[in-house]
Amino acid sequence: MAKDSFKIVFTDFDFGNIDYERSLLEDIDCEIVEAQSQDEDVLAKECEDADALLVQYAPISEKVIDNMKNCKVVSRYGVGVDSVDLEAATKKGISVCNVPNYCLNEVADHSLALILSLGRKIVALSNAAKSGTWDAVGVGKPIFNFQEQVLGIVGFGRIPQHLYPKADALFGKILVYDPYVSDEIKDKFNITMASFYEILVNSYFISIHCPLNDSTFHMFDEREFQLMKPTTFVVNTSRGGIINTKSLYLALINGHLAGAGLDVLEEEPPGMDNELVKLDNVIVTPHAGFYSESSIKDLKTKWVQNVVKVLKGEEPHNVVNK
Ligand code: NAD
Repeated sequence: MAKDSFKIVFTDFDFGNIDYERSLLEDIDCEIVEAQSQDEDVLAKECEDADALLVQYAPISEKVIDNMKNCKVVSRYGVGVDSVDLEAATKKGISVCNVPNYCLNEVADHSLALILSLGRKIVALSNAAKSGTWDAVGVGKPIFNFQEQVLGIVGFGRIPQHLYPKADALFGKILVYDPYVSDEIKDKFNITMASFYEILVNSYFISIHCPLNDSTFHMFDEREFQLMKPTTFVVNTSRGGIINTKSLYLALINGHLAGAGLDVLEEEPPGMDNELVKLDNVIVTPHAGFYSESSIKDLKTKWVQNVVKVLKGEEPHNVVNK
C-alpha cells in the first residue's frame, strides 16, 4: 500500500456485496477491507490501522476505538449511532457520521398506508373475499369516512412533516403533539397543536413519530389506551419501545382500541409466542418503512460519501459528534 493510501474497513453488511460502494470509492487511493464481523476482538484487530470505518450493525466500542491509530471517521449505515461509543470517538477526534435524511417520504407513506389499510379494513376484506365471503358491510363494519375523522400526530420531526400534507388531504382535522417543535415549523405547516391528553381523547387515528429515549419509553401504556376511543387506531412506524406491548395487547383484546398498525415492535423479529401480532385487528410489517429502491441507493451513497468527504478534508453530510 502506498504511504498516502487509505485503509477503509467495512466492518459488516447484510446485503450481498459492496460493488456499488466500491464504485463510489474509485477516486480514493485506498485499500478496502470487508471485515464482516461484529466481534469486538476481531474488529479491534481489523480496524487497528484503518483510516475510516463503514459500519452497519457492528458495535464500535471503546476498546475498538482506543485500538485505532489513524481513524478519522466512522460512518453508520442509517440514522442510529447508539452502536458507536460516541464519547470515546470524540475523545480521539474521530468524526462519527450518520445518514438522517433518507427515507422520509417512504416512512411517511408507510404510516399513511397503515392508516388507510386499517381505516378501510383492507386486510380483513381481502382475506374474506379470498376465502369466499363477498360481504363488504358484514366484514368491514364499522368503516368511517376519513373526512369526518381526527388524526393525532405525536412527534413532528422530519418524517411527519412529509406525512402531514398527504394526511391533510384525507382527514377532516389533524392535531399535533410535540413539545419541542419550533414556531417556524408550526407556521410553515399551519398546524393545530394539542396536548398529549387532547390527542389521546380526540383522535380516531394516532400516528407515532417520536424518537425512543428515557422520556418516550412506554409513553403509550395502559392509562393512555384507556383514554382513547374504542374506535381509535394506533399506528407506529417510529420505535417499538414507545408502546408497552403488553398494555397494547390488553387494550386490543378488551375493546379499548379498534386496532393497530405496527412497523416496529419492542422485540424484532417477534417471538413465536407474541400474541399481539396474531390479532386480526393488528397489521404488522417487518420494520419496512425505510425501504424503497431509491431510499436504499440514497442511504448507500451518503454512507460512503461521509467517508470520502472526511478523507478529502470536506464537510460530510452529517456529523453527530461535532
Ligand atoms: P426527528 O428526529 O426528525 O423528529 C423527532 C421529533 O420528535 C422532534 O420534532 C422532537 O421534538 C419530537 N419529540 C421528542 N420527544 C418527544 C415527546 N416526548 N413527545 C412528542 N414529540 C417528541 O425524527 P424523524 O426522522 O421524523 O423520525 C421519527 C421516528 O421514525 C424515529 O423514532 C425514527 O427512529 C423512526 N424511523 C423509523 C423508520 C422505519 O423504517 N420504520 C425509518 C426511519 C426512522
